[in-house]
Amino acid sequence: MDKVKYAKVNLDIVNKLKKIVGDEGVITDSFDMEPYSHDETPGLKSFPEVVVKPKTKDEVAKLLSLSNQEGIPLTPRGGGTGVAGGAVPIFGGIVLSMERMNKILEIDISNSMTVVQPGVINGNLQRELKNYELFYPVNPASLDSCTIGGNVANSSSGSNAVKYGGTKNYVCGLETVLPSGEVIRAGGKLVKNATDYRMVQLLLGSEGTLGVITEVTLQVIPLPPVKVDLIVPLSEITPIAEIVKEVMGKKIIPTSIEYMDSETVRITKNYLKDSPFLPESSHYLLIEVDGSRKEEVDKDYQTIGEICLNRGAEDVLVVEDSGAQGKLWKFRQSIRDALVSFSPTMIEGDIVVPRGKITFFLQQVRDVLKKYSLSAGIFGHLGDGNVHINILKGKTEDEKWKVITSKAVEELFNGAISLGGKISGEHGIGLIKKPYLPLIVSEAELNLMRKIKRVFDPKNVLNPGKIFD
Ligand SMILES: Cc1cc2nc3c(=O)[nH]c(=O)nc-3n(C[C@H](O)[C@H](O)[C@H](O)COP(=O)(O)OP(=O)(O)OC[C@H]3O[C@@H](n4cnc5c(N)ncnc54)[C@H](O)[C@@H]3O)c2cc1C
Repeated sequence: MDKVKYAKVNLDIVNKLKKIVGDEGVITDSFDMEPYSHDETPGLKSFPEVVVKPKTKDEVAKLLSLSNQEGIPLTPRGGGTGVAGGAVPIFGGIVLSMERMNKILEIDISNSMTVVQPGVINGNLQRELKNYELFYPVNPASLDSCTIGGNVANSSSGSNAVKYGGTKNYVCGLETVLPSGEVIRAGGKLVKNATDYRMVQLLLGSEGTLGVITEVTLQVIPLPPVKVDLIVPLSEITPIAEIVKEVMGKKIIPTSIEYMDSETVRITKNYLKDSPFLPESSHYLLIEVDGSRKEEVDKDYQTIGEICLNRGAEDVLVVEDSGAQGKLWKFRQSIRDALVSFSPTMIEGDIVVPRGKITFFLQQVRDVLKKYSLSAGIFGHLGDGNVHINILKGKTEDEKWKVITSKAVEELFNGAISLGGKISGEHGIGLIKKPYLPLIVSEAELNLMRKIKRVFDPKNVLNPGKIFD
């Protein structure tokens, strides 16, 4: 951990903060600050000394300038749905909550762009765009609480990434306040730009360690009017990679190929009062196909269905009704909450491997879990090679839990790395995966990352202690 000594927030600082954002934009009461002391990472909590809620870029600039001058750590925060501890203020100081910068500034139909403030909730943007028959396809399962700023900072994805990609594929412009208080505008409402260093790409996924994003320009696309979902129960895990390979081989790119194991489905069914029909099985694929013409979508889903049955699927259930589809995806989006409610202590994995290695990796995961007698809910974005392994503590004793999970996690990471994978596909490194970064990122690359951080933030006041020390 950093050995930097940071200045404390005293009354004088609080008064200066109030002068910048107004009294109503500052929280100092510890009860009211509790929601800002954690994100969704199980068991991680650290209180800020003060929470500030700016409304404009100029206020953000003054706040960053003050934190920099005074040497007070400042942690940016969006919806607080991160699961790697990125928004947790581990050195206290200031939490900069972007919740009041939540306006959709523009929907520019002719340019297929939207310009938003960082605090806009992803799901709200999706719903607004629908009114214009437009689509922003990045849909993390947390879409009704996470923000576009947080999505950019974590380079997040969702279940639609198989066909449409993730946040990185849609961000065309970013307005960002640097730790010095200076403002840069990288990119813009531009499909192309070869003018400067790729600042947009550098800031994407920088987890609030290089600058605070104050405006985002996103590309949007026409809303595909037709979609069909398939529920595919399987008794064996072996055919899964072959199914994906054969579907792709037929030049069909499904919108989503999601995976859930039986434990995940059992726990989520018990958690939700109203679950969609899912037959008893060991493994499930949830496949969505969308498009602009019904005949094409029908042809694609029928081909996928045949491939699944030929490869040993127990059944293929077709879901075409929008109400039933909504219920199905609500089930998928509720998985994490269900697992947390079942076992408040759990270790979350977000490993990504090349798509073709997925069956092999899932078998490796099951072997490691068996070796340490651990139970887990395994699910995720199989079509992207991105698996969430949520190891559930249940009744395991504390001491044993610590020892076996640290061994199991390292074995899982090393297994993925040996297959050409990475330790995080979408959740980021934050605080939680920081100790494991050297397993996958070379010392030379880590040094380069540290040097970049120093250029942006020489005093290390912006989200310190995240990604690396
Ligand atoms: C139930 C559940 C389901 C999830 N499903 C998915 C999923 O399908 N795909 C996926 O990718 N993730 C998923 N996540 C993880 C999480 O929702 C994403 O990482 C999301 O993008 C975080 O957004 P947020 O607004 O909540 O950010 P926060 O948690 O508030 O912050 C995340 C990081 O971004 C930084 N940050 C936030 N705003 C800014 C800003 N304006 N400028 C600079 N830095 C900023 C913070 O400092 C922090 O490091 C899920 C989480 C939960 C709880």
